[in-house]
This record gives sequence, structure tokens and C-alpha cells, in this order.
Amino acid sequence: MASEHIRFLIIGGGIAGLSTAWHLSRLEEGERTILVEAEEHLASHSSGVNAAILRSLAEDSISTAIGLRSARFLREPPTGFSETPLVDAFGLLLAAGPERSEELASWVSAMEPGVASRCESLEAHEVLLRAPWFAGNVTRGFWFPEEGRIDIGALVAGFARGARQGGVEIRRGVRVERLIEEQGRVIGVRLSSGEEIRAETCVLAAGGWAGALGAAAGSKIRLRPTRRHLMVTAPQSDLDRRWPVLWYFGSREEGEFYCRPEGGGLLLCACDITDVDPERYDVDSEVRRLIASKASRFLPGLRDAQAAHFWCGVRTLTEDGRFAIGPDPDVEGLFWVAGLGGSGMVCSAELGRLAAGGLLGSSSDQDIMEALSPARLTQSALD
Ligand SMILES: Cc1cc2nc3c(=O)[nH]c(=O)nc-3n(C[C@H](O)[C@H](O)[C@H](O)COP(=O)(O)OP(=O)(O)OC[C@H]3O[C@@H](n4cnc5c(N)ncnc54)[C@H](O)[C@@H]3O)c2cc1C
Repeated sequence: MASEHIRFLIIGGGIAGLSTAWHLSRLEEGERTILVEAEEHLASHSSGVNAAILRSLAEDSISTAIGLRSARFLREPPTGFSETPLVDAFGLLLAAGPERSEELASWVSAMEPGVASRCESLEAHEVLLRAPWFAGNVTRGFWFPEEGRIDIGALVAGFARGARQGGVEIRRGVRVERLIEEQGRVIGVRLSSGEEIRAETCVLAAGGWAGALGAAAGSKIRLRPTRRHLMVTAPQSDLDRRWPVLWYFGSREEGEFYCRPEGGGLLLCACDITDVDPERYDVDSEVRRLIASKASRFLPGLRDAQAAHFWCGVRTLTEDGRFAIGPDPDVEGLFWVAGLGGSGMVCSAELGRLAAGGLLGSSSDQDIMEALSPARLTQSALD
């Protein structure tokens, strides 16, 4: 590909960059798009270390709408996208204690009526019929029979393969050192190898690193990289592998907690949030203890389970919890697909579609694009 013909240069081969590349290729822009990923393997950061839960309900109705549309894609991907199903729909149970029951119900009532009918409202005793093993103080719940677990490997492979077939050049093991500016406009990137690539628009899909790359080029967009841990227990002989995903919204003191079956054991999360520098962060053994303590409180049958794996990853948050998709308000030639928070895998298909539409100026989703506009996240907009 001759660099002078590059229209879109995507920085980052996580789910944000890959889905955007895939959608651009479907819109006949593949031949003029290049994606660069710093690591040797695609999706080796957040997009490869997450909990893979398909939960489309979010606190915010716009994020829920994006999640629901994306979930439709995951359940019924286009022909040839994946040889295996992308979703194992063993069900998702959202359960709340007294402090958060009303709030949870308000998220559900903000869903489109047709979609809300696909989730079942449950009284406390009905929640416990579905999850008799759970010992939280549940007062209300919602059952989503079509949700469950995403096959992350198949999803990443589907986007990458489709993008390549559509003409996108994907380069791995290539780090963007910095964006190159000329007269207040980004005109390309400089790679750590010293090579420079020019492009009409640079797309920042660099997850936790996006904020720093943008700031160095003069952007005022502020994102918040945070760390979250996950633990998987050793296999448990008496554990039913068809348990649903359970997500509990406890009291202020309890916080949130979720679990789902994984490889004969359980994947557990205490829903911790700590600000981190994506360049240097590590697992915190305190959180390991927190997970163990929540697990023994909420899952008494699992008290003796040993941890088999314990790891952490970065969730990049925005001030209002919505994604940042759109042009930078101050730096021309720079377009953001970032701030995917804790639902980037669920929302991947739809956020890539929105990003591609925004890049080509062909989006028919003006209201949503306005709500996702990065302009709301500049320091001055936040002050
Ligand atoms: C513990 C945990 C649990 C989660 N659980 C879920 C879940 O159950 N369901 C769900 O939907 N979401 C979940 N998420 C969130 C989801 O994983 C993220 O929203 C998503 O992966 C973010 O994708 P991304 O492409 O923005 O970032 P990343 O996957 O981090 O991709 C960014 C890429 O950019 C590359 N890059 C960075 N800088 C440069 C550079 N200078 N040059 C070239 N390349 C660069 C990086 O190497 C990286 O590959 C979870 C996240 C965590 C951490």
C-alpha cells in the first residue's frame, strides 16, 4: 500500500480498532485503511483479558441501545463471519439488594419496550430459584435468557479476517511513537522503527494508551484508564457448568460482584476500580483477598475453592460512562474510538459501525453520535 493513499490509519488492534477496520472494509474503504498494533498479537491487552460476559443492560440508555444492537450482531453475525457461534446464551441474572433495586429497575424500564419484553422481572424468591447457591441479600432481579458468554477468540478472529479480506492491511509488532502534526493538523504517525506513515485521518483506538497519545498531539480529551481484577477457581466437582452469569448490585458497603462458570471452576470479580498508568500496573494481592472474601460471603458452597488464575486488565472510563467516538474537537485529522469502559466486547460490533459511519460522514445516527462526541470530554467541558 502506498502511504500517500492511506485514508484511515487505525492505531490499536484491540476490539475497537478491529471492529472499526472491519466496518470500513464493508464500506469499500479497506484498500485505503491500515491498522497498526504495537504487540505481536492482536487483542493482547483489554480485549484479550476480559470476562467475556454478554450483558447489554447498562446504566445509561444510550449505552444500552448500543449494547442491544451489538448483541443482535453477536447472536446472528453475517454469513462467513465465524464458523462457530459467537455467544453461548446460558442466561444472565442481574440481582440487586435493597439499596439498588429501584436503580436497576429504572435501567430496565429505559430499554425499548420490544426489547424489555425479552427480559423477565423477578421477585427475590424467583432469583433464588434460578441461583439457589447465591447468598447475597437479594430483593429484586432480572433474567436475560439470551445473554451469557461471548467467544472472544472467535469475535476477534472474525473482525480481523473480514477486515483483511476487505483489503485492510494489519501490521503487528509496530508501535506508534507519536502522531505527526503540521499546522495544527495530524497528518500521520511516526513509528518506533523511525518510519513515518501519512494518512488523511488517524483513528485513536489505542485503549488505555489513547489518552496520552492524543494529549501529546494537543488534544484536550481526558480518559481514565483503570484496573480491574478477575480470578478463576480450580475446577469444582459439584459445580453445574450451566449456571447463569450472576451479577449482583449490593449495598454501598458490599459493592458489585459477578461470577460465571469457567473451565469447570468459576470466574469471579469483585468489581474493583483503581486508576492506573497503562504503562506500568500489576496485580494487587489485596484484591485477591477482596475477591476471596466476597466469594465466601456470597457463594458459601465455594468456601474452600482454590484460585487457579488471577489477573488484571485495563478498563478505560469516561466521565459519563459513554464511549468516545468521533472527531477530536481541537485537533484536525484525529478521530477517537476509545473509552470503551467495561462493555467494549459486547458493544464492539455496533461501536465499529458507528465509528465507520462517523469517519465517512455517512452516519444516520446523529443523536447517538452527538451523545458519544469526544468534545464533551475536554477538560473545559468537564470543568
Ligand atoms: C477485567 C476486565 C473485565 C472485562 N469484562 C468485560 C466483559 O465481560 N464484557 C465486555 O463487553 N467488556 C469487558 N471488559 C471491557 C473490554 O475488555 C474493553 O472495553 C475492551 O477490550 C477495550 O478495547 P480497546 O480496543 O479499546 O482496548 P485494547 O483491547 O486495550 O486495545 C488497544 C490496543 O492498542 C494497542 N496500542 C496502544 N498503544 C499503541 C501504540 N502507540 N501503537 C500501536 N498500538 C498501540 C495496544 O497494544 C492494544 O492492543 C472488561 C475489561 C476488563 C479489564
